[in-house]
Amino acid sequence: MANGSSPRVRFCPSPTGNPHVGLVRTALFNWAFARHNQGSLVFRIEDTDAARDSEESYQQLLDSMRWLGFDWDEGPEIGGPHAPYRQSQRMDVYRDVAAKLKAGGYAYDCYCTTEELDARRAAARAAGKPSGYDGHCRDLTAEQVAAYEAEGRAHIVRFRMPDVPQTFTDLVRGELTFQPENVPDYGIVRANGAPLYTLVNPVDDALMEITHVLRGEDLLSSTPRQLALYGALTDLGIAKATPVFGHLPYVMGEGNKKLSKRDPEASLNLYRERGFLPEGLLNYLSLLGWSIAEDRDIFSVEEMVAAFDIADVNANPARFDLKKAEHINAEHIRRLDVKDFTEACGPWLRAPYANWAPEAFDADRFAEIAPHAQTRVTVLSDITANVDFLFLDQPVEDEASWAKAMKEGSDALLTTARAHLAGAEWNAEALKNAVLAAGEAHGLKLGKAQAPVRVAVTGRTVGLPLFESMEILGREKTLSRVDAALAKLTAATA
Ligand code: GLU
Ligand code: ZN
Repeated sequence: MANGSSPRVRFCPSPTGNPHVGLVRTALFNWAFARHNQGSLVFRIEDTDAARDSEESYQQLLDSMRWLGFDWDEGPEIGGPHAPYRQSQRMDVYRDVAAKLKAGGYAYDCYCTTEELDARRAAARAAGKPSGYDGHCRDLTAEQVAAYEAEGRAHIVRFRMPDVPQTFTDLVRGELTFQPENVPDYGIVRANGAPLYTLVNPVDDALMEITHVLRGEDLLSSTPRQLALYGALTDLGIAKATPVFGHLPYVMGEGNKKLSKRDPEASLNLYRERGFLPEGLLNYLSLLGWSIAEDRDIFSVEEMVAAFDIADVNANPARFDLKKAEHINAEHIRRLDVKDFTEACGPWLRAPYANWAPEAFDADRFAEIAPHAQTRVTVLSDITANVDFLFLDQPVEDEASWAKAMKEGSDALLTTARAHLAGAEWNAEALKNAVLAAGEAHGLKLGKAQAPVRVAVTGRTVGLPLFESMEILGREKTLSRVDAALAKLTAATA
């Protein structure tokens, strides 16, 4: 590893809203890399954009990291040798470095106005020339500077790009070369003195001795700039070594368009609210650009960490597939032991509807139904509709289910079924036979005979295995629900 010591990677999001899955994938790959290589993960908050960063987003970010199960070796809440880890608290560091860069001739004040820049860019375009910054202020004389100052012009600070190609070997994409005409001098400090991402990110990477920068491909174009800045920081004795870079592939959403922060399926909160397990979501996200083995989709986070090698990351864009994410999550739900499953379902069993009294939940009842539910739900929020019949006084009133199941003759069928059920032993096998017999009496197969019974007892046309459900609900409640359904049918035809 770089420096012959253990690797140091970083996760450095800006707290600008609810985290999206691309960010989680980046965090995951950095975390897995650090853990696999016995390295350190530095968690840094890039909150230099006061207009967009909020304390609420910061708290959300920490909460998300904890929920996902990530830990970090340095960063918020735990500190470390390079504290503080919030960039908003490091402004004097950046001011100091910017001053040194200017003093060393690596950066300069640029007085160009937006209008001037726009006009020159348009002219360069029209002439078919590169349209980036043209180096206008690179070598202003003292008189020119004095004249601009006298005009009352503001200036930004620009980094002077070396006029040579920048070549580096990306851990994912191999050797890449950027020509100088495509990487013009760039701003590092705003006119109001605020340092920009272009400065603070590599400066902190240098000071925090980051050895590997693993991040999304959207940041690839900033890498040649950062490498050049690293060169300057090394000359100035601020950076000890230049990190190696690896750019994780784009994630494509619907219609083969880049998944954007604004796409609903990009929001981490959506997965939390629907009841993804963190390990299910992480398993899925790990497959966005990486795989553990050709024929294997389901694995634990520990297995991922044990196998993770950045050299195995694929440079091709990865396709985000919600159905696959759900399938993988379902598999992780199946793997839980019943106790953990029950605990994970907790939030979806505490008074999910207005007419579900908090005290209506019964842990023993749930323990009986849980094994049937665990093999069937895809996300934990599915649990509510699957078990509500056990905890509500009355089954939910779902008009669509009722209309679908209650046909002509359903009253006769239910009347017969009720008689058979009343005389049956109360176990799933006997209950099935009772409904089977009632169906036979009316020339109906089990599936058809079962539908009105299911809606009478659970309120819904689909759900967990019916006879097991009835067994757990108990004789008294089951029969009274069949009676209520019959009364409703009679009232409707009267
Ligand atoms: N704060 C930057 C972002 O959120 C970090 C980019 C990087 O990893 O260099 O995009
Ligand atoms: Zn200029």
